[in-house]
Amino acid sequence: MAAPLSIEIPKTPVAYFVPAEAERLGSAIGELRRTLGEHAYLVLASDKLSPAWIQRAITLGADDVVDPTSAEDVAICLARTSRAIERARGAQTEQACLAMERDYLQACIDNLPAPIFFKNSEGIYVGCNGAFAEFIGSPPEGVIGRSVYDVAPEALAQRYQAADDELLERGGTQVYESEVCHSGGTRRHVMFHKAAIKGGDGRVRGIAGAILDITERKTLEARLTEAAERDPLTNAYNRRKFFDLAEQMVQQARDDDKTLAVAVIDVDHFKLINDRLGHAEGDNALRMIAGTLEKTVGKGNVIARAGGEEFYALFIDGSINEAKQTADRMRMEVERICQATALSALAGTVSIGLAAFRPREENLDEALKRADDALYRAKNSGRNRLCVAA
Ligand code: GH3
Ligand code: MG
Ligand code: MG
Repeated sequence: MAAPLSIEIPKTPVAYFVPAEAERLGSAIGELRRTLGEHAYLVLASDKLSPAWIQRAITLGADDVVDPTSAEDVAICLARTSRAIERARGAQTEQACLAMERDYLQACIDNLPAPIFFKNSEGIYVGCNGAFAEFIGSPPEGVIGRSVYDVAPEALAQRYQAADDELLERGGTQVYESEVCHSGGTRRHVMFHKAAIKGGDGRVRGIAGAILDITERKTLEARLTEAAERDPLTNAYNRRKFFDLAEQMVQQARDDDKTLAVAVIDVDHFKLINDRLGHAEGDNALRMIAGTLEKTVGKGNVIARAGGEEFYALFIDGSINEAKQTADRMRMEVERICQATALSALAGTVSIGLAAFRPREENLDEALKRADDALYRAKNSGRNRLCVAA
C-alpha cells in the first residue's frame, strides 16, 4: 500500500493523500478504508489523471483526486480538502454535542421520580425514563418500539389509546385521572399530564407524558369524605349527609310530582340505659340500634343519625302505607334485637313519628316538624310505637 504523503495529519477527521497506481486502485482504497476508517478523507494522487481514472477513483470510494505534479491542482485540492475537513469536523462536533445533549436529557428524565414516556404519532413508545420502565415492570428496551397494547391490559389500553387519539387530533395538553396496573400487581390511581409534541413544521409528531401517582391522596380523600359524611360512633350517615341526600331525593320527587315520607326515630328511655349500664354500654346499644335501622330501612331509602339517640329516615317514592309498614318493621326489629341483650330489662325500643309529604306542596323541614310532633304523640302514648302525622 502506498504511504500517505507527508503532510501534518490531524487526529480526526483526516485527509490522506495517496499516490495510487491505476491497476491497484480498488485494493488500495479498500485497504485504506479498513485501516483508517470510513471517515478518513482520501485524496488519490496521480500524475496520469484522465476522466476515466478520476471516474473510477471516485466510484471506488475516493473523496478527491489530485495531480501532484501540478502546483495549481495541489493548491486547489488542498483548499477543497481543508474545507471538507472543516465541514466534517463541524458535523462531528455537532453530532458529539447532540449525543451529549441526548445523554444529558436522558439523565435528567431518568433522575426524575415521576414516570415519563414519549410516543410517536402512531402510538409507538420512542422513549421513557427509568421510573416509567419500573412502573410498568419492563426494561426500557421492552417498552421502546411497543404500543400501549403491549404494556397494559386490553381494557385500560383501549382507554389510553382513545385519549391519545383525541390529543393527537386536537393538539395542546391533556390532564386526566385513571387507574393503571403497577408492576407490583397493584392498581394505582394516577394523574396523566400529557402534551402533543409539534415538529418545526407545526405538525404533531407525537405525545410526551408524565404520570403522577395519586393513590395516597385518593385514599386520604376517600377517608376525609367518609369522615365528613358518617357519624364516627355508629358509622351511620350523619345529619349533613342526610340533608345532602334528601335534597336530591326531594328535588327528584318534586320534578316527578311524587310523594315521600320522613320519619323521626328516637330511642326510648335511653338515659336509663346510660344510667344503669354505663356510657360505654350506651354507645354499644346505639351502634346496635343504628345497624338494625340501616339493615331494615330498605333499598333506596336513607337512614342517618340526626344527633344523640335520634335518627332520621327518608322513604322514597312509595305510598304512605308502604313507608308505615317499613317503619314499623324497623321498630319491631330493634325491639327483637334488643330483647336478646342486657337492654331487654330496660326499654331497648324506639318510638317513631312518620309524615308523608309531596315536595310540590311542602318542604322537608315542615314535614320533619310534623313527624316530630307525631313522635311526641308516640312517646306520650306509651313509647315503642309508630304514630303517623295527619
Ligand atoms: P325518651 O324515651 O323520652 O326519649 O327518653 P330518653 O332517656 O331517651 O331521652 P333523653 O333526651 O332524656 O335522654 C337522651 C340521652 O341520650 C341523654 C344522653 O346522655 C344520651 N346520649 C346522647 N348521645 C349519646 C351517645 O352518643 N352515647 C351515649 N352513651 N349516650 C348518648
Ligand atoms: Mg330518647
Ligand atoms: Mg331524644
